[in-house]
Amino acid sequence: MATENMTSGEGELERELTGMLEIERFDPPAEFVARANLTDPAIYERAEADWQGWWASQAERLHWFRRWDQVLDDSNPPFYKWFVGGKLNVSYNCLDRHVEAGLGGRVAYHWHGEEGEEEEITYADLLARVKRFASALKELGIGKGDVVGIYMGMIPEVVVAMLACARIGAVHNVVFGGFSAESVRERMEFSQARALITVDGAARKGNVAAVKQQVDQHMGDLDHLEHIIVVRAKGTPCEMREGRDVWYHEIVEAADPECPPEEMDAEDPLYILYTSGSTAKPKGILHTTGGYLVGASSTHQNVFDLHADTDTYWCCADVGWVTGHTYIVYGPLANAATSIMYEGAPDYPHRGIWWELVQRYRATIFYTAPTAIRACIKWGPEHPGKFDLSSLRLLGTVGEPINPKAWLWYHKVIGGERCPIVDTWWQTETGSIMISPLPGITSTKPGSATRPLPGILAEVVDERDGTPIEEGQGLLVLKRPWPSMLRTLYKEDERFVETYFRRFGNETYLVGDAARRDKDGYFWVIGRIDDVVNVSGHRLSTAELESAIVACEAVAEAAVIGQSDELTGQAITAFVTLQGELDGSDEVESLVRAEVAERIGKFARPKRIIWADDLPKTRSGKIMRRLLRDIAEGRALGDVTTLRDPTVMAALEEKIRAEQASIEE
Ligand code: ATP
Ligand code: MG
Repeated sequence: MATENMTSGEGELERELTGMLEIERFDPPAEFVARANLTDPAIYERAEADWQGWWASQAERLHWFRRWDQVLDDSNPPFYKWFVGGKLNVSYNCLDRHVEAGLGGRVAYHWHGEEGEEEEITYADLLARVKRFASALKELGIGKGDVVGIYMGMIPEVVVAMLACARIGAVHNVVFGGFSAESVRERMEFSQARALITVDGAARKGNVAAVKQQVDQHMGDLDHLEHIIVVRAKGTPCEMREGRDVWYHEIVEAADPECPPEEMDAEDPLYILYTSGSTAKPKGILHTTGGYLVGASSTHQNVFDLHADTDTYWCCADVGWVTGHTYIVYGPLANAATSIMYEGAPDYPHRGIWWELVQRYRATIFYTAPTAIRACIKWGPEHPGKFDLSSLRLLGTVGEPINPKAWLWYHKVIGGERCPIVDTWWQTETGSIMISPLPGITSTKPGSATRPLPGILAEVVDERDGTPIEEGQGLLVLKRPWPSMLRTLYKEDERFVETYFRRFGNETYLVGDAARRDKDGYFWVIGRIDDVVNVSGHRLSTAELESAIVACEAVAEAAVIGQSDELTGQAITAFVTLQGELDGSDEVESLVRAEVAERIGKFARPKRIIWADDLPKTRSGKIMRRLLRDIAEGRALGDVTTLRDPTVMAALEEKIRAEQASIEE
């Protein structure tokens, strides 16, 4: 093994982290608790005793033009309605009411561009921009119920566009800026969008992508798509088609600066968002107005222990994902928070840019994904080490199970051992966080999202008959409705019922993840149902196996799949990426196998290890195990439209061909 490539500093850190793995539990630090908003554990029981009352109390956080008559209408499950009869407007809640309360001068976003450009956008600025753009949309004939596509990167206009839609009751359909123009066309067609808001060009690590040109090449003629509104973001040349295309700045300049917010019904649609497609064909998740905003606001406040007047909050997701919708836009704005919004990638212009920005804006709350943390581990602690991270007081993760090794690295290297970590489990479908610590109350265990938030009833059930499992492994379900739940799959009611409610009936939401509950009732989400591997009758979670492999000093990342095996039913194949520039060897292979044997058991040792330079991931950074299964079994690849980097699959195919050839020799 090429250990000489590792600095002694890394080895030391490694030993310390491994030592810390022995510590099972982290209590909320006393200093944190002293200032926390929520510190009384009785909140869980109170919410449980009257869960509808709990959600009604959370709805009080918002401004309603008209109060609801009924908290929950559950007469037609699984088609639930929340805050029935209530009227509100999301943009009013996110902007006007704060400005009216005297907070117009508060910074909503410290925007930071890829090349170091900066913009400070106050609540008053944002409101003025949203009103103008909302007027402009209206003048184009866009109104309540119309679908509007949004396809751009992390620039302030993306937030303006979303809120302007919300202001006039149009339904936005944001497509992540990293998706191809072809996926945009599909999504516009499927949702019958009347308008698309996009950019001339977008920053991509020092280059500029000609976004509008690509859109033109792929959009073809969609009759329903009457308008394309183009933000001049980078000055990239593009054609403007007469009668269809307009410049954002021109229509905004000509627009009425006033635009009263539309009074929306609590159950009117707010947006459609397609899921990332880790498992199957993307699903058009539909969220509505009242319940969604209640969930976003309540969880953002409680999980991140927000002190809106003093915190600087940073969620470094992309607005194109649900995490961006709920925790960059709607939650923080509803709560009058000050956020950081960063245009670029974590490794441009350098691998310490996130930490440089934490230092620059004195970020106090930082929320990211395990995939990003694993990348930072691979790059080495010297990058964060160059910056002052002492302003941070709370860290969060979302998107995948986090390996304990990555959790501990985050805790130590980024959090300086003083910041609680909230591992937040939720989905596009749930709209907001479901399982997570409350940082001033809940003790954490690395790798566990701990317990359901107040008001949420999650269970682990037996996959055969749905009986609850107190301690052990099974399927994760949510047993009662919650305000921010998806209302359906857009134009696919049947697929909605089929996907989430067929298995255990209309009152039990099937999450699609497997989970384990431990003796303390903590939840360990261990991967998607399809990702569980069955070796000689032992049901193993991919997350657990991967965490064991990643615990090896040399390993940066791992993905595990089950392959059919005559002897054992399924055998484990592991795709492994090594730290830095290390190469795979028999020696590393035996270390990996020994680590798994030690942590889980001999039977769980991978039968086949494939060294990979990189793993196939969705554009949101999640490992696509179904493609690994396809490739390992020599099948044609399934749907690859959400795959971030196709060259990764090509390289793996090459590896496997070489492996095959050497076996046949
Ligand atoms: P698709 O449903 O199209 O396959 P996706 O499930 O990746 O895509 P999202 O809704 O963004 O799309 O992701 C939700 C899933 O991410 C969860 O069901 C779970 O598998 C995983 N996940 C999210 N947060 C966590 C977490 N904190 N711990 C473990 N897993 C998580
Ligand atoms: Mg999913």
